Amino acid sequence: MLDNLKILLHQGKQYIPDVTKADVPGIFRGRPVISTEKVNEDELAALCPTNAISPTPLCIDLGKCTFCGECAFAFPGKIKFTSDYKIATNDRDRLTIKEGRDEPIELNHQKIRKEISEYFSGSLKLRQVSAGGDNSCELELNACGNVNFDMGRFGIEFVASPRHADGIVITGPVTENMAEPLQICYDAIPEPKIIILAGTDAISGGIFDGSPALNRSFLSKYKIDLYVPGNPIHPLTFINGVLELIKKRK
Ligand code: SF4
Repeated sequence: MLDNLKILLHQGKQYIPDVTKADVPGIFRGRPVISTEKVNEDELAALCPTNAISPTPLCIDLGKCTFCGECAFAFPGKIKFTSDYKIATNDRDRLTIKEGRDEPIELNHQKIRKEISEYFSGSLKLRQVSAGGDNSCELELNACGNVNFDMGRFGIEFVASPRHADGIVITGPVTENMAEPLQICYDAIPEPKIIILAGTDAISGGIFDGSPALNRSFLSKYKIDLYVPGNPIHPLTFINGVLELIKKRK
């Protein structure tokens, strides 16, 4: 008994008490900040493997960024990655980081459908579809439900059948082979339903953007309710984004 108590005391809390204020390790790359330092912008843009950097005015599209860190290594005075993991939003334009701006990324409340907070604020069941994913974002989504992040305490859980789901979480760049299964899964979810894109590959195609092996036509047919950037995503990015999306609003 005493030994068990000693172990419990040594282990401390197994869960993150407040997921909105948790700290992440210093090596984590979250929201980048672009300083106003003068650099060769074309040279900087050219080193990005996914064309996430646009010159004049210099900006980074987090929907395309793989968070490889190459730009910050090459131009440390110009680009710095902060540990801000709250980078999910429902407005695609807000994923663009502009030069000289150090502002949090927030959801555009005007664009949140009324039925989302009406139906899902206390309980949200999600079906996950890996549409050509590499198992990295899928792994992190799995971690959202572990004892540490414990997403289930907010009523947010993954379910096995789309018939039992309120929405779909898509990972991967959406390959041709997964285009039809993705559509079938989406069609099986009862209305109202939401779509979440998790990870750079899902948002823009990532390093596979433009590949003939992709078929992303599904994404142009429906409104996307949440973009969760990351390569892979961080569980705290996903949980905070979803909590903000389903929050009860007047
Ligand atoms: S961290 Fe993002 S913006 Fe920078 S080089 Fe890598 S992919 Fe491009």
